[in-house]
Amino acid sequence: MRIGIGYDVHRLVENRKLILGGVEILFEKGLEGHSDADVLIHSIIDAILGALAEGDIGQLFPDTDETYKDINSRILLKEVKKILDNSGYKIGNLDTTICAQEPKLQKYLPQMRKKIASDLNTDISNISIKATTEENLGISGKGISATAVVLLRSL
Ligand code: ZN
Repeated sequence: MRIGIGYDVHRLVENRKLILGGVEILFEKGLEGHSDADVLIHSIIDAILGALAEGDIGQLFPDTDETYKDINSRILLKEVKKILDNSGYKIGNLDTTICAQEPKLQKYLPQMRKKIASDLNTDISNISIKATTEENLGISGKGISATAVVLLRSL
């Protein structure tokens, strides 16, 4: 077995869609970034790459590369799934936490789980997505962060 951790944070700005876990969230702001800035999927990608000791999302998909401008992060996740498949490992389980002061995310979590489980071709029971606030401390309000921990099993 191998384990990995991923962390990511993006700034909240006007005139951007808010995409988390591949789901569009109704909110007056969105996350700034080169891709669609899906902070949850980015943390998951880094956890998987970390478990495989294969570097990080920035090395694999540089933000200087126009190919990745505003790209749907689920496409990046599916690329990382190919690396996982070739490594001789599969998802054991994945646990994540999104940290956002607002909006309320609970009602979106089941859709996110479904999409992530589908992209990683694993049972939904292996995917956990939680949401919390920072009690108005730290960066919350200005941005959204996500942490992911993954356990991989050899095939
Ligand atoms: Zn990111």
